[in-house]
Amino acid sequence: MDEKQLFGLALGLTPPWFIDKVAFDPGQKRLDLFLDFQRGSKFPCPECASGEGCPVHDTTEKTWRHLDFFQHQAFLTARVPRIECPTHGVRLSNVPWARPGSGFTLLFEALALLMCQQMPVSGVAKVMQANANTLWRLLTHYVDKAVEKADYSDVEDVGADECAQRKGHEYITTFCDLGQSRVVFVAEGRRKDTVKKFGTFLDRRGIPREQVRNFCADMWEPYRLGITEVFPDAELTYDRYHVMTLFNRAIDLVRRKEVRSVPLLKNSRWLWLRSQRKMTGNQRSDLAWLSRLDTRTGKAYQIKLTLQRLWNYTDRGDAELFLKKWYFWATHSRLEPVIEAAKTIRRHWKGILQFVDSRITTGIVEGLNSKIKTAMKRAYGFKSFEYLRTIIYLVAGKINIPLPTQC
Ligand SMILES: [Zn+2]
Repeated sequence: MDEKQLFGLALGLTPPWFIDKVAFDPGQKRLDLFLDFQRGSKFPCPECASGEGCPVHDTTEKTWRHLDFFQHQAFLTARVPRIECPTHGVRLSNVPWARPGSGFTLLFEALALLMCQQMPVSGVAKVMQANANTLWRLLTHYVDKAVEKADYSDVEDVGADECAQRKGHEYITTFCDLGQSRVVFVAEGRRKDTVKKFGTFLDRRGIPREQVRNFCADMWEPYRLGITEVFPDAELTYDRYHVMTLFNRAIDLVRRKEVRSVPLLKNSRWLWLRSQRKMTGNQRSDLAWLSRLDTRTGKAYQIKLTLQRLWNYTDRGDAELFLKKWYFWATHSRLEPVIEAAKTIRRHWKGILQFVDSRITTGIVEGLNSKIKTAMKRAYGFKSFEYLRTIIYLVAGKINIPLPTQC
């Protein structure tokens, strides 16, 4: 077996393709494999894949980057036949080792894809000595393909959540399948319009909008408007964690004002906000001690603890009665931020109580959010929305990237 046969075998080349020449330049750290096909060969038309194959019209030379051969960059160069199809005329035929239009072999693409799932694209570009932009395009191609194939036919509960692309910059909204905790759709903005785009996405996939039975979101009004318009059959549940965050903010406003007269409250911010279950023993006793001081902050805190009991109700009537009593108490607390928060809760009554029936939260989405943050870090340096969407799908979409095979 000579080196040509050896490399042909390594590449999985089948007739009519063969290796014509191997050029190895240790100085340039470069390996070139020149491919050719047997004279008189016929190739299928890329449009209609005509069985017999079409005669070759002429050839055009192309070069592909292949997997490195140890420390050497490897390239394939071939005369690619342009065939003459009786129906479609002269067309460039496809080669078995690369996608049409790609400058990489399939094997190179496969390795790049595997690496992009584990590390930042810019890092992959460095390791593979490839252009980052080209890798992004490659990744986007395969991710789009995987999303196209993904099965969303059982999506019923959807969480909509926003995140900022960068601090103070444009927002994006992720729509998540709460059943399978995966990102299904990513859109720019957080407007009513953004929800419409999700509706259109489902339409294109042939998924009836009525299939979405529940939405879970924060109390951002444009979301509600969009959901009501685009998904009139769906029930909207306001996310309980966002409700509690709203109330936490109120507590902190009370504390910040009070700290002037009660310096002991200084640096106690997290004690009032954190869930007791996540506290250390010391923190818990600090909190217990502070709570006994009869402060306004402590009072706001008690109102929050009581509100938290709402989430345990399983009967909507009971829950509503409870919330009414709570509202009365909160609005008579004479704590301005607490009253404000209670009024906001009053305005979102229905969606908050909806939790009793739907039991859904965007809690999983919050878990996904940390993945999305990772994704954004990985997209660092590339601010285009398209790339951001690509990496979010890759990290949080639970999609199956089809690995390029052959060669
Ligand atoms: Zn044809």
